[in-house]
Amino acid sequence: MEPSEYRVVITDCDHGSIREEKEEFDRMGAELILAQVREEEELIRVGKEADGLINQYALLTRRVFENLPKCKVVARYGVGVDSIDLRAATDLGIIIANVPDYCIDEVASHAVAMMLTLTRKTAFFDRKVKSSQWDFRPGTPIHRIQGKTLGLIGCGKIGFEVAKRISAFGVKVMAFDPYIQRTGEKIELTDLETVLRKSDFISIHCPLNDSTQHLIGEQEFQKMERKPLLINTSRGPIVNEKALIQALEEGRISGAGLDVLETEPPDSNNPMLKMENVIFSPHVGFYSEESISELKRRTARNVSDVLRGRWPGSVVNQGVMGKTRATISFD
Ligand code: NAD
Repeated sequence: MEPSEYRVVITDCDHGSIREEKEEFDRMGAELILAQVREEEELIRVGKEADGLINQYALLTRRVFENLPKCKVVARYGVGVDSIDLRAATDLGIIIANVPDYCIDEVASHAVAMMLTLTRKTAFFDRKVKSSQWDFRPGTPIHRIQGKTLGLIGCGKIGFEVAKRISAFGVKVMAFDPYIQRTGEKIELTDLETVLRKSDFISIHCPLNDSTQHLIGEQEFQKMERKPLLINTSRGPIVNEKALIQALEEGRISGAGLDVLETEPPDSNNPMLKMENVIFSPHVGFYSEESISELKRRTARNVSDVLRGRWPGSVVNQGVMGKTRATISFD
């Protein structure tokens, strides 16, 4: 089959345009259809002639896959593939690909921005000046950043980039990450207890899973000797929010920068919304115009790679290797 005979369907997406995707498939002459459907029957209807799918939120169940006889690949926008029945896809020889690293720069910079905002109290002073208070004293004390210690919880792609950035401010970096043996030369690997006891900033960069849910709770806050600033740009449920509120109320930590919460958006009666030393952003760490454009381009590339007979950049269901519907060349 010629690449120009292929049909690719975007099941659904909430991006403003599909320019990058279109450019990718125009290059190979394939047809691209934006369906914007989420119901099972609709997905089967739009997908039954498709050689590849691109997916954002629509649930791709076993029943959907069983009714997509031509589909060789599904590329998900972003990291998570919870919307996709991976086992069914693997059983049927359909490759599932994702883009796990399109926003590392953005999230790392966001975490550092939150540390700096809280330390220099820029958001606090901005509010004061706009309410006609031109006085630095309500913001005292402020402490020097240089010489402080940042403790990372999770030191993968984003944690490492946070370390690189904050090192430029003269901050020492230590990290707790049970799954790595080595980090960059300037990051000291240590245990969780040491991170909790010795850090002036704690920044969370591990994934959310059964072992990290509520990893930071009442006991952990009690170990924070240096009243650190806590930054969470990873996933809300890694921190027990009740314990976080208590730690803030009791002054066990100096403040928090939260891009993610256990409940998003927060309830209007969440006490942290009234705390001057807590700053929020609405789960925006991933976003820049460039990161979204990269995400769209690389998602489309995951599909076009398979249709051209190449193994795509990031395959989630590696078990599909050797039984794919597509003819893949590993030369
Ligand atoms: P990554 O896989 O490169 O790094 C995660 C690190 O966490 C790994 O080194 C892993 O060994 C470590 N880890 C796993 N379990 C751990 C545990 N129990 N304790 C300590 N460390 C542990 O992932 P990444 O690209 O650096 O992303 C990190 C997280 O950032 C993602 O899981 C995601 O939740 C979050 N994220 C948030 C946004 C946002 O918009 N705020 C965007 C992208 C990613």
